[in-house]
Amino acid sequence: MLQLPHQPLQVAAVPPQRAPAREDEAGPWHAEAVCRRDEAGLFFAPSKEPTAARLAREEAAKRVCARCPVMVECREHALLQPEPYGVWGGLTAAERRVVLARRRRREVELRKAAATERIAQAG
Ligand code: SF4
Repeated sequence: MLQLPHQPLQVAAVPPQRAPAREDEAGPWHAEAVCRRDEAGLFFAPSKEPTAARLAREEAAKRVCARCPVMVECREHALLQPEPYGVWGGLTAAERRVVLARRRRREVELRKAAATERIAQAG
């Protein structure tokens, strides 16, 4: 079985249904992940983590992501999967939700513009 790029070694608030990405879905980028052995437990929240500790941990995880050669691939994987927990590709779960919401709004706007153009051309 393919290992996740970052395996939480501490007890983390990651539900058991969080399935590892299959290699044919995620691509070979896992092999180059800087966080393959997340021994510091940076990428997933331990249970009942205070806000200040969470923010500090997430910033530390993002610094790791910033020097990772597969950050773009990892981020897209986490957005497409989607991965609901942890830091992936330099984004927290909340930040990924914002990116996904923006993408959905953009798709709706593009569809509306295309429909308007079709109507104008037909009319
Ligand atoms: S971008 Fe971050 S989370 Fe993704 S593989 Fe690299 S270090 Fe891990």
